[in-house]
Amino acid sequence: MNRIVVAGGGLAAARVCEQLRAKGHDGELLVLCAEPHPPYDRPPLTKAALLEERDTTLRTDFELLEADLRLGVAATGLAPDRDVVQTAEGEIPFSTLVIATGSAPVPLPGSGPQHVVRTAQDAARLRAGLRPGAHVVLAGASWIGGEVATAALRLGRRVTCVEPGPAPLSTALGDEVGALFLPWWSDVDLRLGVGVTEVTATGVRLGDGSHLTADVVVAGIGVRPQTDWLSGSGVEVDRGVVVDEHLRTTRPGVYAVGDVAARWSVRWNRHLRVEHWDDARTGPDVAAAVILGGDGGPEPLPVHDPVPYFWSDQFGHKIQYVGQHGAEDAVVVRGRGSAKWGAAWLAPDGTLNAHLSIDQPKQMIHARAAIDAGAKPDPESLADPDALL
Ligand code: FAD
Repeated sequence: MNRIVVAGGGLAAARVCEQLRAKGHDGELLVLCAEPHPPYDRPPLTKAALLEERDTTLRTDFELLEADLRLGVAATGLAPDRDVVQTAEGEIPFSTLVIATGSAPVPLPGSGPQHVVRTAQDAARLRAGLRPGAHVVLAGASWIGGEVATAALRLGRRVTCVEPGPAPLSTALGDEVGALFLPWWSDVDLRLGVGVTEVTATGVRLGDGSHLTADVVVAGIGVRPQTDWLSGSGVEVDRGVVVDEHLRTTRPGVYAVGDVAARWSVRWNRHLRVEHWDDARTGPDVAAAVILGGDGGPEPLPVHDPVPYFWSDQFGHKIQYVGQHGAEDAVVVRGRGSAKWGAAWLAPDGTLNAHLSIDQPKQMIHARAAIDAGAKPDPESLADPDALL
């Protein structure tokens, strides 16, 4: 048997199929996709798709790829001792398995009604909820929170956002950089330093005991990898499916790509779970090459270790972040007070670890190349946003 099974129905799963065929896999290809839709793009779900109906289905042609796409069929288990995936339709044997089950939003506690945005159905439900006069309460002034706030304001809705940190995006970017985003939130009733403890029948209860009445409650407090189905399978899971730099799990013949993977980064000397569109797009190239190249061949195995890249569209601006910063890094704010501001994070030895650009796509491209090259820019000249990296 030469059957590759892909578990998951998002960007990473679609790209794996394209790459496997492009690189010459001529055996069976079977995709288990829990959702009823063929794979689609998620970034528009908190952007254009909240303003109007959007079809974001990917162009991947599964028929042309001769891939057996099983819609609405989830992988429910992986046998520990046999190469079979369990589903509600029975067991499916494989010679190679690619795990691409992505991540799912963490809901808020409480039994009242709430929205999350992960699927096209979630976005359609939220769009319907953003009706005229609705008061929208967001939990989390984060990537998702900022984008939903942007759409809700554009529709003329009243928006309140509850954020436990001292500034928007402070969890991701730190307090100093987060504070620079405050002016963007001027049309939002932003409640900082307090969290939502419970969604009630009529709104949300906050950590200070107060209650906010809401027509729509949206949770934007993070995601977790969809790995429950792998329990007891022999595949190591530690905040994501643990893979090496070749995207191989701890079980031979089993690989993981996209949001679900915690991939070893040679560059950063640790496992990274990169929940970004770009990583789900590019990782499958490497996974397919490794699968088809076979271990122990004459060529060195390809490595997936790009500088991570993420964007977000908020309040009429494009935020672009490249790299990966840690608590020990020093942050340099670039162009403080100007429209072209940004930030750079330097490791204790001066290496550029991460860079934030606002509305400056060219600068982001330079920054990514500089991080890739291990550049050590002069911190003083970095403060000038026009200084080349
Ligand atoms: P997913 O897209 O999560 O797809 C996984 C698929 O597997 C899903 O269809 C799921 O239903 C299915 N599945 C789960 N469990 C099983 C199972 N047991 N069996 C079979 N199928 C299963 N990134 C950016 O860089 N910029 C952005 O602006 C941006 N905006 C975003 C906005 C939203 C609303 C969301 C949700 C994400 C956004 N992202 C953004 C992140 C980006 O979309 C993800 O990184 C990307 O979708 C990851 O792709 P994936 O295929 O790994 O996982």
